[in-house]
Amino acid sequence: MTSSRVTLTVRNHDRDLGGMRYVYPVLSRRAGGVSVGINLNPNNACNWHCVYCQVPNLVRGAAPEIDLALLESELDGFLHALVHGDYLQRHAPEGAREIRDIALSGNGEPTSAAAFPEVVERIHRLRLRYGLAERVPLRLITNGSLLGRQRVRGGIRRMGEVGGEVWFKVDGGRSEDVLRINGVRRTPERMARDLARCAELCATWVQTCMFRWDGESPSAEALTAYLDVLERANAAGRLRGVLLYGVARTSMQPEAPRVSPLPAAELEAIAGAIRKKGLTVTVSP
Ligand code: SF4
Repeated sequence: MTSSRVTLTVRNHDRDLGGMRYVYPVLSRRAGGVSVGINLNPNNACNWHCVYCQVPNLVRGAAPEIDLALLESELDGFLHALVHGDYLQRHAPEGAREIRDIALSGNGEPTSAAAFPEVVERIHRLRLRYGLAERVPLRLITNGSLLGRQRVRGGIRRMGEVGGEVWFKVDGGRSEDVLRINGVRRTPERMARDLARCAELCATWVQTCMFRWDGESPSAEALTAYLDVLERANAAGRLRGVLLYGVARTSMQPEAPRVSPLPAAELEAIAGAIRKKGLTVTVSP
């Protein structure tokens, strides 16, 4: 579930950290610090196929079996380097020497890992051990499609208990838009219900990517349907807001030539329409 996150950041393939399977550092100048990424999909498998996805060699599928001991030891080692070592001094520019978050955000859908709830628990244990629980949030970047699974809801509920945050993908509000953009069949009713459910369990932000398709901006009908999903999901007023992204980087999918950025003014107009629904919006062109 990388798309927008990678758009914002610069991956730092650091030799000190070479060879890690699950943990990767993301130096984000914009966010002013280092994000600790956890990739549960080293097989580049996702149950969705978003046309703007930046995962190279993306395949359909689920996360593989997770080696929990290895994940824990990689995260332990990296947090140790960040908290007790000089990693930040050596690698992050002044003003960006903070740990911003620990984020389940990899090359596919993290909640498709059978061990997702155990992963949440182990990450949280390490946050506690390194004294990070209060100041470094645990984030899940998800397409939200597996909320129907009890184990997934359990993991998200646990994230809510430990002050975590979910970024839940919604790119369209009509089935045909979701099929074209995300490569899956989803009804607006189901999207709204799953989003509302997620927001009940844990602090939830909607993550939306808007772009031109074959040179055409999203139609008025498509935008109205998208806003309807947000409105329905937010009936209880639980959504934190919307993170609205453009496509700053080229898609790694075959559909890339059909995807182009929206002009900043159009993205701002969409943000304005979302705000009229009473939601907070941040825009990242
Ligand atoms: S949900 Fe979409 S953007 Fe995220 S990894 Fe899957 S295909 Fe890529």
